[in-house]
Amino acid sequence: MDWDVFRATGVAHLVSISGLHITMFAWGAAWLVGGLWRRSGRLCLRLPAPDAALLGGLLLASAYALFSGWGIPAQRTCLMLAAVALLRLSGTRWPWPQVWMLACAVVVVADPWALLQAGFWLSFVAVGVLFATDASGTQPGAGLARGTGARALAMLREQWVVTVALAPLTLLLFGQLSIVGLAANAVAIPWVTLVITPLAMLGVLLPPLWDAAGGAIAALMALLQWLAAWPWATLSLATAPWWLAAAGVLGGVLLVAHLPLHLRSLGLPLLLPVLLWQAPVPPVGQFEMLAADIGQGNAVLVRTATHALLYDTGPRYSLESDAGHRVLLPLLQALHTRLDTLVLSHRDTDHVGGAPAVLAMQPQAALLSSIAADDHLQSLRPAQRCVAGQHWEWDGVRFEVLHPQAADYDSPHSPNALSCVLRLHSAGAQPQTALLVGDIESPQEEALLARHAPLRADVLLVPHHGSKTSSSEAFLDAVQPRQAWVQTGYRNRYGHPAPEVMLRYAGRGIVVHDAPHCGAITWRSDRPAQTVCARSGEMRYWAHRVP
Ligand SMILES: [Zn+2]
Repeated sequence: MDWDVFRATGVAHLVSISGLHITMFAWGAAWLVGGLWRRSGRLCLRLPAPDAALLGGLLLASAYALFSGWGIPAQRTCLMLAAVALLRLSGTRWPWPQVWMLACAVVVVADPWALLQAGFWLSFVAVGVLFATDASGTQPGAGLARGTGARALAMLREQWVVTVALAPLTLLLFGQLSIVGLAANAVAIPWVTLVITPLAMLGVLLPPLWDAAGGAIAALMALLQWLAAWPWATLSLATAPWWLAAAGVLGGVLLVAHLPLHLRSLGLPLLLPVLLWQAPVPPVGQFEMLAADIGQGNAVLVRTATHALLYDTGPRYSLESDAGHRVLLPLLQALHTRLDTLVLSHRDTDHVGGAPAVLAMQPQAALLSSIAADDHLQSLRPAQRCVAGQHWEWDGVRFEVLHPQAADYDSPHSPNALSCVLRLHSAGAQPQTALLVGDIESPQEEALLARHAPLRADVLLVPHHGSKTSSSEAFLDAVQPRQAWVQTGYRNRYGHPAPEVMLRYAGRGIVVHDAPHCGAITWRSDRPAQTVCARSGEMRYWAHRVP
């Protein structure tokens, strides 16, 4: 809940990427230490005031970072500050690009994995932008002699500059951009740095101040919640290819750079492609299926030209984590997809684990499911029962429910036996069919055969993850798929898919793609010969090669 508010108001970096406010704290502390130092002639003879200010600022900022939890971003910021401070203490004056590169090199040497983290890149660009746009053209910390009013103005300016310059990068990394972020940041950054944190630190000594800090946090949260409720609080966009995004980041930096206006305005055309980018969708009459890499469970996203359906939502991994939060929401956001319908085939947790998260983020999605009337999910979104015979058409693609029958709900059945079976059928000269069957078992397969349901399909989602209870010979002979997809976890405890079942597929020349080898599986009805495996396409060097 809190995180959604933080994201919507663009202050997530205060909580997660604390680099900026630690840096600001360091400046404030350096200014204070320098001022006090100058009052004593004897101290100044020992150590020049600017050096004392630098050291004092660095030490106090490190203490502050330690206090705020010594998280990775805080450690990183302190390393950067230390590198810059030591360079200045040594008396050398490097041009800012070199100082910037040195600070980042120190961080990367200390923690090479930082290169893979969004926070690192946000800090990297933020620090670079601050260097590049600093009015005095010198390094941070050099403007300590400025008056308080000028300092406050400079702080506001820096904040504005960082917010604008980081907007395209935030969009690239998170697929989301906060519109009210500027207003929220203008209040939140000074409030956290100058009020909440000092109160909390002093609160350790004086308990009443601790309560005051709590009050200050509550006041900030109230303001942020109010801002987050604005209709245009956040802008979500499809994730653009990296080269478009890089152009956008460059555009953002150009807009705030110290350059003549006509050069700065060049930033706008560089920004536009990222803002206008649309994720590719299938043409009218065709559909795309994407079996997400969610481990042991089902989750298949079906997209047509203007509609989208999600078939199941994968498993729950632990109390705090499920496939919805971890995989499906980022996926839907990256593709900028609004679901028209969420199908939950049945109530088992490997199919509905991510449902609460998906329903919360997709308020417009209708729910079609076989879950019982008293299921807790009904309180999140009332479900329409899936019943054989239901059908609809989106952009020329036909959707049809083949199972269960209305009467099946009246007699006791296992959840698996009530799995909603969905048939997809594309238009065009070479129509393609896909069959999503949940966890049906051989009695349901027989029932479908007995009713002469239209089972023939080009792509089959293997029933019940390849369990021994399903994929009967007669069923496979009726479906005659060219390819079959198994969504299972690697070395799952159920032994899915069962080797003897896989032999039935192999014996019929059916190509099987499974999640442990393939990762996410993508296929489009207008390119039926191409099946894309995410693992083989984007294999990282550290990924385990499944034997
Ligand atoms: Zn299952």
